Amino acid sequence: MSYTITDKIAVVTGAGRGIGKAIAEMLAANGAHVICVSKSPESCGAVAEGINANGGKAKAVAVDVSDGPAVKQVCEELLNEFGTIDILVNNAGITRDGLLFRMSEDDWSSVINTNLSSCFYWTKGLARPMTRKRWGRIVNITSVSGIAGNAGQINYAAAKAGMIGFTKSVAREFASRSVTCNAVAPGFITTDMTASFVENASEAILANIPLKKFGEAADIANIVTYLCSEESKYVTGQVFTIDGGMVM
Ligand code: NAP
Repeated sequence: MSYTITDKIAVVTGAGRGIGKAIAEMLAANGAHVICVSKSPESCGAVAEGINANGGKAKAVAVDVSDGPAVKQVCEELLNEFGTIDILVNNAGITRDGLLFRMSEDDWSSVINTNLSSCFYWTKGLARPMTRKRWGRIVNITSVSGIAGNAGQINYAAAKAGMIGFTKSVAREFASRSVTCNAVAPGFITTDMTASFVENASEAILANIPLKKFGEAADIANIVTYLCSEESKYVTGQVFTIDGGMVM
């Protein structure tokens, strides 16, 4: 399936691995110029290099998405270099799981800052040109944990639930400028983030997934690519759950 994204400039955070890498590659395959963001220069560098080697257009930027001033500076540099950004995918995220009584303040704040505050920094830094030219797409990668809650993940579930409120509010603020903002909530997708989980509790997890299999990064990239395209112009403020039927 191909979508109309040609020559749009897209920023994808957390593009060094897993879901973000699949999103960056699919956007590039559909004609976007993709800025791949990750924490380490090696991972986003390798993804951008791969896209360029396959005939696409990509650039790598290494920055800690939870560092507000650093993200502000990167956004200014990108707007100077490209003139505009059309698409923003807030995908970078981490987990620091633990039960409430054992959770440190650092585990709480690092998860809130990396998953949720980062959406505020990037959207504030990049959305103004979208509203001026009356075209823009913002997609936030939340989680089923943010919809249903999850024992042992109060920090992560709170951050991901916050992203849903953020998404709906941005959608309302920017709707009159034809800038859409949607969220995608994955279930269990096989990536580095879920590797140990899936290895240790595979049977127990599968018992709760009606489709009886884990998702692939491409399952998320498919819907994100649609939400970044011209074809999704009448869709905003929505949360798309891609989880094999776990949350209905
Ligand atoms: P992953 O394989 O662990 O990859 C995470 C990516 O985010 C990496 O490229 C990493 O950079 C980047 N990142 C993490 N912290 C960062 C920071 N402070 N600054 C900049 N970049 C940072 O994760 P994933 O499984 O693909 O998950 C992607 C998103 O989907 C996350 O928001 C996650 O919460 C969400 N999600 C995933 C699942 C799942 O089953 N996998 C389910 C629900 C939701 P480096 O490469 O430099 O380390």
